Amino acid sequence: MSTNAARVAGRHFLQIPGPTPVPDRILRAMDMPTIDHRGPEFQKLGRRVLEGIKTIFKTENPVIIYPASGTGAWEAALANVLSPGDKVLMFETGHFATLWKNMAIKLGLKPDFIPSDWRIGADAEAIEAKLREDKNHEIKAVCVVHNETSTGCISLIPEVRKAMDAAGHPALLLVDTISSLASIDFRHDEWGVDVTVSGSQKGLMLPPGLSFNALSDKALAAAKKSSMPKLFWSWEEMLPHNEKGFFPYTPGTNLLYGLAEAVDMLHEEGLENVFARHDRHAEATRRAVRAWGLEVLCREPKYYSSSLTAVLMPEGHDADAFREKTLAHFDMSLGTGLTKLSGRVFRIGHLGDTNDLTILGALSGVEMGLSLAGVPHKKGGAQAAMDYLTERAAKPMKAAA
Ligand SMILES: *Cc1c(COP(=O)(O)O)cnc(C)c1O
Repeated sequence: MSTNAARVAGRHFLQIPGPTPVPDRILRAMDMPTIDHRGPEFQKLGRRVLEGIKTIFKTENPVIIYPASGTGAWEAALANVLSPGDKVLMFETGHFATLWKNMAIKLGLKPDFIPSDWRIGADAEAIEAKLREDKNHEIKAVCVVHNETSTGCISLIPEVRKAMDAAGHPALLLVDTISSLASIDFRHDEWGVDVTVSGSQKGLMLPPGLSFNALSDKALAAAKKSSMPKLFWSWEEMLPHNEKGFFPYTPGTNLLYGLAEAVDMLHEEGLENVFARHDRHAEATRRAVRAWGLEVLCREPKYYSSSLTAVLMPEGHDADAFREKTLAHFDMSLGTGLTKLSGRVFRIGHLGDTNDLTILGALSGVEMGLSLAGVPHKKGGAQAAMDYLTERAAKPMKAAA
């Protein structure tokens, strides 16, 4: 193959909050001839991934796997448990919550969208107040984004569950974990979530192309009454095939090889260690941001995300002009500001297959990029992160379960 582009040495630094870098081990696991998806060899793979993925969602119930991006799994969640005209309660955590709300409108649902300034997670008290007002139980579902990838704020799902129970309201709880699953602690069964939505290309370290719905018994019962038209997304079409290890249509076979490997890798490290690693890299990043004299967008520590950090640009400076410098000079991609935050923030992804030196490389690139772009800041952010990671490295890790 001939190309005029100059060779770029080393690995690209993909520091966006998804898609995330795919480990070599997963790339090798997917490097397989595609097989007959109705044959016995596939059946073994099907059974392995359908069982394995439950341990990541922490559920005993079925998990549906779609050959689709996360947006597909959003639609599947709404289409399987709701009917046109149903009211849903959603919280405006940021860009992704807004897109999910817009989708609900397109599907003929009636969202009540609780507004927010995009700098905190979902406010459980506001949700409780809305549910208490809804005496006739017209609200059929509460939809919350666990990790709002546009802002770097999480929502505290156990608090939302508690608020729903305190209001004594029967609505279903639908949670988007697309950028938190396998990065930030999440427990589908224990936290009483009815439908969990997720995707392959973030914490699971896979290429884009798979997405998920984890279910509850209550969600399965609601699916029987749903009159939303669907076929591709229908759990009822999917589940009888999944019971035998198969799919009703052609699955993303090679991505499923990768998924099996990813599940093994997460358990080899130990999920607790995976979460602790993400917490550590997030804290190192926030220390760097403070040392630069810049501001983290998330304004309350209890909502800090361990998947990514959104950083506010000083007034009069464009985040995208700065991002262009880090790409041009250091071959590093940082996340852009989305819609309301366009030009005002850049996002540092620290989820997926990241280690101490990758995050330090990324933070060094940010610090150098700030200088090149003429953004006023103090030096020493990467140093502050190094100091923190050195201190943490001196503490022993827990053994994998
Ligand atoms: C990435 C992301 C999405 C969109 O997923 P796609 O795979 O791009 O369709 C939705 N919600 C959240 C929270 C995300 O991070």
